[in-house]
Amino acid sequence: MRYISTRGTDSADYSFMEVLLKGMPEDGGLYVPKELPRFSPEKISSLKGLAYNDIAFEIIKPFTGDCIPDEVLKEIIGNSYGTFDHSCVAPLYPLYSNVWVLELFHGPTLAFKDFALQILGRLLDYALEQEGRRAIVLGATSGDTGSAAIEGCRHSKNLDIIILHPHKRVSEIQRRQMTTVLASNVHNFAIDGNFDDCQELVKQCLIDQSFLPKNINLVAVNSINWARIMAQIVYYFYASVQLGGSEREIVFSVPTGNFGDIYAGYIAKRMGLPISKLVVATNKNDILHRFFQNNDYSRKTLYQTLSPSMDIMVSSNFERLLFDAYQQDASAIKELMSQFHDSNKLTIKKSIWLEIKQYFSSYSAQDSDICDTMKKTYNETSYLLDPHTATGIHALKSMDSLPLTPQVSLATAHPIKFQQAIVDAQLTAPKPPQSMRELLTKQEKYNIIPKNLDNLKKIIITLT
Ligand SMILES: *Cc1c(COP(=O)(O)O)cnc(C)c1O
Repeated sequence: MRYISTRGTDSADYSFMEVLLKGMPEDGGLYVPKELPRFSPEKISSLKGLAYNDIAFEIIKPFTGDCIPDEVLKEIIGNSYGTFDHSCVAPLYPLYSNVWVLELFHGPTLAFKDFALQILGRLLDYALEQEGRRAIVLGATSGDTGSAAIEGCRHSKNLDIIILHPHKRVSEIQRRQMTTVLASNVHNFAIDGNFDDCQELVKQCLIDQSFLPKNINLVAVNSINWARIMAQIVYYFYASVQLGGSEREIVFSVPTGNFGDIYAGYIAKRMGLPISKLVVATNKNDILHRFFQNNDYSRKTLYQTLSPSMDIMVSSNFERLLFDAYQQDASAIKELMSQFHDSNKLTIKKSIWLEIKQYFSSYSAQDSDICDTMKKTYNETSYLLDPHTATGIHALKSMDSLPLTPQVSLATAHPIKFQQAIVDAQLTAPKPPQSMRELLTKQEKYNIIPKNLDNLKKIIITLT
């Protein structure tokens, strides 16, 4: 399998290893497969009854191609999902008649980002081992991504990981999920500033890496690495084959921020999985909803909501969907993205917009909708949704019903991680899982540093 850039007008293509280690092409675009593998109905039926890890191998294999030997890939998958606390990895919970919740929060940090970052850390480690060099993963976090990345990299021999978080501006649980990992390759810094300051420091270090010794480079953790999308395609297949496989169409409702998770569902559909609709569930930050409703993709004020992991102004993976919709026309994408860069607004060709719209529905949930959905669902089913997952259920409930089509709503986080929403919905928080209770008494390790680029560079050099 070869990969191309969404802004690559020079017809260059790349191997999986290049895409993995680089994360983002120099032209500012995103890597995507040149051609997607197709799964026939027979092939999809053959996945029925397989364990999660076996399905993961079948889905991921065509994307990594010859770059990773089968035995190695199987071991990486096994180790990644061996850290999950449920034997199904991604269990389907029946919520209402014909409505299921796909629980994606059984990983070490209790949110779905573990699916991608567990595998990404191990793939990077293997790739670096092959090339005989080291790298430093550098990232900024406002809460969830940092801990998932640390959990994914803590066992890597060829990687150090540095995560910057804004001092006193992440919750105690979120901080402890990062700072209680005492592995010698994990380095947490609390920056005396806000999340934007952290992000800016990371960006400056990544842009000019000349301060580092030759054989070492920085890898962005919040870059839009293709390997993260690849790992997320798996659970769409896993859920579908349990509910009718190749014969029955399914609706997936997906809480969306950066359009990563739902884009993985779109890829699953393009690979042949019968998905009748992908439901884009946004919170008050509704740029995607406005696009699907009115062909209006425009930057607006950022709101803080009860579902903070979806609080974004622009969706970085959206460019990948446009590239596909425009039949891989990189010049057109370059033009559109530069239009967006200059005017903070983007409108696409009407015929293409109408075509994309067939695959998606979209809804936006205010905080009050989130609370109402959490409360109503709990009263009717005794099942506690987290506020992100609630946007997905809210969207399904707002849809014209499709009585015979199974509906699956992705549960992206464990409710215990977002206690404020539980309070606001006037519900009672459940007993935290064992791992979370232990967090509160574990030793922490982190340093508080000023928001100073030269100082940070010096710290990074001491790790090389
Ligand atoms: C990151 C995240 C999302 C949004 O996922 P995208 O891939 O950015 O669309 C939703 N819910 C939770 C809990 C998250 O951490």
